[in-house]
Amino acid sequence: MKKGILLIISGFAGSGKGTIVKGLLSNYDNYTVSISATTRAPRPGEEDGRDYFFVSREKFEEMIANDEFLEYAQYVDNYYGTPRKYVNSMLDEGRDVILEIEQQGALQVKAERPEAVLMFVMPPSVQEIYNRLKKRGTESEEIIMKRMRQGAREAGVIEKYDYLIINDDRYECIRNVHNTVCCAKYASKRNKALIDRVKSEFNDFLNM
Ligand code: 5GP
Repeated sequence: MKKGILLIISGFAGSGKGTIVKGLLSNYDNYTVSISATTRAPRPGEEDGRDYFFVSREKFEEMIANDEFLEYAQYVDNYYGTPRKYVNSMLDEGRDVILEIEQQGALQVKAERPEAVLMFVMPPSVQEIYNRLKKRGTESEEIIMKRMRQGAREAGVIEKYDYLIINDDRYECIRNVHNTVCCAKYASKRNKALIDRVKSEFNDFLNM
C-alpha cells in the first residue's frame, strides 16, 4: 500500500489554521489528525485526548527521554510535541496525516522526512491576526502581544515552507489546501514504484 502524505500545517496564531484542519477532516475522508502532547493548560472547552494530551512538564520530559516524539518544541513558555508512534502507523495505513504544529517542529520534521509537505497558512493582513486573537477572547493582552512578537519572528522563516496559503475565505482556503495535497501525490519522487514498473514493462516489451 502507498504511504500517506505527512502534511504539516503551520501559521501565525490567529491564522485560522485550526479551522482549516477541522474543515479538511469533515470534508474529506483521507485525513487523520495527530494529537499533540503539551504542557500548556487547557483553554475553556478543550478536552484531554481530543484537542491535546495535556501533560505535566515532568511527564513531557520523560517522553522526550524515551524518544517518543517525532518532533517537539518550546513555544511561548510551553512544550508541544508530536507522538511518533501514531503518526507512523497511520501513514503506513495510507492515511494522510495532518500535523498542526509551529515552525521549529515543522523544520525538524522536514529535516528528518524530506517527503513531508509543509504548508503555511496566512491571514490576509497582520492587523487581521491581532483582530482574530482579540476576538477569540481566550488570552490576555500580554499573551496576545507575545504571540504577535512570535509571529514577527516566524515571518522570517516562511520561505522554508513548500506552500503558502492565504486564509481569507475559509472554504476556499480548505479547498486550496486539499487540492495542493492532491497535487503533491503526483510528484515523481513519490511515485518511484510507478517509474520502476514502467521501466520494467519497457524492458519486457523490448525483449519479447
Ligand atoms: P496553541 O497553544 O495555540 O494550541 O498552540 C500554540 C502553537 O503550538 C501553535 O502554533 C500550534 O500549531 C503549535 N503546536 C501544537 N502542537 C504542536 C506540536 O506537537 N509540536 C509543535 N512543534 N508545535 C505544536
